[in-house]
Amino acid sequence: MDVYGIIGNPVEHSLSPPMHQAAFRERELDAEFVTFEADPDRIEEAFRGAEALGIDGLTVTLPFKHDAFEFVEPDDRARRVGAVNTIDFTEDGPVGYNYDLSGTLRAFEHHDVDLEGADAVVVGAGGAARAIAFGFEEAGATVSIANRTVEKAHDLADDVPGASGHGLDELPDLMADADVVANATSVGLESDESVAPADAWHEDLTAFDAVYKPLETRFLKDAQAAGAQTIGGAWMLLFQGVEAFEMWTGEDAPVETMNEALREHL
Ligand code: NAP
Repeated sequence: MDVYGIIGNPVEHSLSPPMHQAAFRERELDAEFVTFEADPDRIEEAFRGAEALGIDGLTVTLPFKHDAFEFVEPDDRARRVGAVNTIDFTEDGPVGYNYDLSGTLRAFEHHDVDLEGADAVVVGAGGAARAIAFGFEEAGATVSIANRTVEKAHDLADDVPGASGHGLDELPDLMADADVVANATSVGLESDESVAPADAWHEDLTAFDAVYKPLETRFLKDAQAAGAQTIGGAWMLLFQGVEAFEMWTGEDAPVETMNEALREHL
């Protein structure tokens, strides 16, 4: 039997186990997906232990995406972002991927939103913002980063080719000229708040929210009310799982099955 899992802390409410279990069942694979809540003070031991036990692959969530980066040979995208959310334990050692980036791009493709030539605003400058900003840049967008702590916006903009950094006070002006606005802050997570002013939305925008709890965030509701297209964070979560499944198993992922399992547990 192949063994995969998610490593994080906390991790008990993760949606990855039901999503991957459903995919393994659908494809009739002899595989299990388990949850590992690792001690942050012993994370390197945890990764080495997983390798020594013959675990086949891990999804990595907060707060271990940087630790994972240090432990693996990162692929190009993970190297650019500086963080890893998926590990493949190969015969040649652990290889790391950043499927937060590719999951975001696949979510946009799924909704037929072309990022080539787009003006894209990323709100936030943490881990999710890094993956999303590098993804947008790779897809051909010009990226503006707006963050509460403006220094962090400038730091991230220095890393992403062609990007500019801004404070949140500039967000309405940035949105007026933008094609895409992504919320990569935790604002709206289990609350009815939005980081973007409701009156800044217009129908030429596409709104993308990394937050997926609730599914319909205030950010997305305000966007929709103004006639903007919306893409919820569950799509990013789904497609990073799809990418991991396909890399680990070499099979096409049963996307609909994974999507149903995810939404059943949200
Ligand atoms: P993080 O590294 O801790 O960054 C948090 C960001 O939110 C920072 O930019 C922070 O600004 C900003 N922020 C927090 N509270 C704020 C407030 N009250 N007003 C304005 N800005 C505020 O977190 P992360 O890992 O990037 O995660 C961000 C969100 O993305 C979380 O909700 C997470 O669940 C979600 N996420 C979703 C997926 C998915 O698959 N859908 C994947 C990864 C993450 P400062 O720099 O000023 O503190």
